[in-house]
Amino acid sequence: MLKGVTQISDVEWEVPIGYVPGMKVSGRFFLSNGLEATLEEGAIRQLANVATMPGIINHSLAMPDIHWGYGFPIGGVAAFPRENGVISPGGVGFDINCGVRLITTPLKVKDLTSKKALIEELFHAVPTGVGAKSARPVSSSDLTGILTDGAGWAVEQGFGTEHDLVRCEEQGRMKEANPDAVSQKARQRGIPQPGTLGAGNHFLEVQVVGEIADHKAAGLFGVEQGQVCVMIHCGSRGLGHQVCTDHLKTLEAATKKYGINLPDRQLACAPLDSPEGTAYFGAMAAAANYAWANRQMITHQVRQVFSRAFRISPEEMPLVYDVAHNIAKFETHQVNGVATEVCVHRKGATRAFGPGSPDLPPELTSIGQPVIIPGSMGTSSYLLHGTSTAMERTFGSTCHGAGRVMSRSEAKRTFTGQQVKARLGESGILVRAPNDAAIAEEAPGVYKPSGEVIRVVIEAGLSAGVARLDPLGVIKG
Ligand code: 5GP
Ligand code: MN
Ligand code: MN
Repeated sequence: MLKGVTQISDVEWEVPIGYVPGMKVSGRFFLSNGLEATLEEGAIRQLANVATMPGIINHSLAMPDIHWGYGFPIGGVAAFPRENGVISPGGVGFDINCGVRLITTPLKVKDLTSKKALIEELFHAVPTGVGAKSARPVSSSDLTGILTDGAGWAVEQGFGTEHDLVRCEEQGRMKEANPDAVSQKARQRGIPQPGTLGAGNHFLEVQVVGEIADHKAAGLFGVEQGQVCVMIHCGSRGLGHQVCTDHLKTLEAATKKYGINLPDRQLACAPLDSPEGTAYFGAMAAAANYAWANRQMITHQVRQVFSRAFRISPEEMPLVYDVAHNIAKFETHQVNGVATEVCVHRKGATRAFGPGSPDLPPELTSIGQPVIIPGSMGTSSYLLHGTSTAMERTFGSTCHGAGRVMSRSEAKRTFTGQQVKARLGESGILVRAPNDAAIAEEAPGVYKPSGEVIRVVIEAGLSAGVARLDPLGVIKG
């Protein structure tokens, strides 16, 4: 293990105050000896750097999918008090409200008599790639509706059901959204892109429910072994990226203005109650709403394909849940035994609220929030649920994926798209992407083994297993 960090348990390490100068609290990360080789010293330094930020509560935290990111590590979680705390775009990420949703179907694998044709139809129904353009570009007033109402806008337009909204984190809408804090440039990037998957790591995957770990929870979530389901991973596209870029500039200036000392300028931040901090928060929330509308519109496109191919209605393809994994939100957590409103940054981390938490639909409060963790196009993804341990230890947070271990450029030197496709084909997994490079960059080998990452969050008590989800066919952006 890295010099200077100390092991606390089989799955937890501490980065003590002093690892980098100016730390106000210690860092904590969750990992296993089996994942040690994946750990980058740079990411641990980033975790320690976050611990120098004004007001940080308890610990700077990282999940087992930790890897190097912009300012904050990916897999990072940090909470700041509403009073005397800060907000930082580096703690949210460029793809604001990148997230994952899981939709079930009434189908079994044997019903997919023409899997290739299904994947092909999905590929054509959901625009993919860097510059993917929407089949339904929106007007400027529609865009304001999207920024204000998120998934609610999409459902109002006929792209889903009221039940979908109930099954989204925040009901698919952050009420603090301020469209006026979103620049014209960001709006222009957003107009042609609602309902598009985007590029790279984003995907739409047809999966089959494998082993069930918790039958009661699986029953409540509406999943059963052998069932075909669909997972969607994407975010706020060019609009979110532009919001991040725009506000990084103003927050870099604000960092100086408010006399905040930081070891890395990528941690640019501003007091939560400052005009600059408030503007970023409002714009970020609006971009988060764009992402929810985006995933909702893609859901509609997917349901239409299934409805044509199998004559099943949208009601027969309910949403299990939709989680955000790049976001900052005000939530109430126990701090030194006192219920306190804090701004939780989750940057490549998933909310994992435990039983009895607010914001859960009544039918799920006895179990906790559904947590959806993708693996890779060749390894399993997982459905878990939140726990009270997560509430106590990580501000109700868990990991967001397996976590990348190999850069895109190294992946292209190591793999070819054809090779990866052929190998996946041997396991019966179909891959469709705009080009072969996109497949090489996303080979299963660029990610940590998802099963081990999940084992760590379960052993640490941050989530509990519900079901394994195995890939059948995937569309990469
Ligand atoms: P990120 O949001 O950091 O880009 O990605 C989240 C996680 O998605 C990654 O850490 C990885 O585990 C997972 N992932 C990436 N590509 C795929 C894919 O094609 N299929 C599945 N199931 N998971 C993927
Ligand atoms: Mn993303
Ligand atoms: Mn993501």
